[in-house]
Amino acid sequence: MKIICIGRNYIDHAKELDNPVPKRPLVFMKPSSALLVNNKPFYHPEFSESIHYEVEVVLKIGRNGRHVQPEFAPQYIEQIGLGIDFTARDLQSQLKAKGHPWEIAKGFDGSAVISPFFPTADFALDTLEFELVKNGEVVQHGNTKDMIFSFTDIITYVSQYFKLQQGDLIYTGTPAGVGPITIGDQLEGVLYTKEGEKRSAFRCDIR
Ligand code: ZN
Repeated sequence: MKIICIGRNYIDHAKELDNPVPKRPLVFMKPSSALLVNNKPFYHPEFSESIHYEVEVVLKIGRNGRHVQPEFAPQYIEQIGLGIDFTARDLQSQLKAKGHPWEIAKGFDGSAVISPFFPTADFALDTLEFELVKNGEVVQHGNTKDMIFSFTDIITYVSQYFKLQQGDLIYTGTPAGVGPITIGDQLEGVLYTKEGEKRSAFRCDIR
């Protein structure tokens, strides 16, 4: 399986990092070894002094396909989850400044927190609300209606380049409010069902 990630998919977040709003989805990948499952703690690595959280809705792909046409794209979403795209912002900034690939800043071990997956029928995918709570305080609150590129846009675009395979994950970008983590922080990801009920999706303690 592979982990495909979309960068700068919410205007407010692109602006907070002084990045231009992209005209096409900005795509990068993480290795499968980046996954952090089952509410395991995240051990702060020593190579960075500025690891940022980015809460993101994650699509689990349920079938294989290339060059997926927009009208069929929704059929590729098997389930949804919530995750964190941990980012070593200091390393990423250095690499970006040099025009180098930023993999080590994005794909390190534990950088892809992932919740269990839930049936898509439980959620309004076009207006899905989600939150990241840090030490009891909401630090990010997103709604998929604010995405620059919809789930359909993402699946259509990405599948032109990478064959989608059953079990692949797509991190669909983060809303505004990203920030650094410190050892001792407690993070919780929350999804809102289509009935407006809160569903705790994951917890992640920083150690
Ligand atoms: Zn991200």
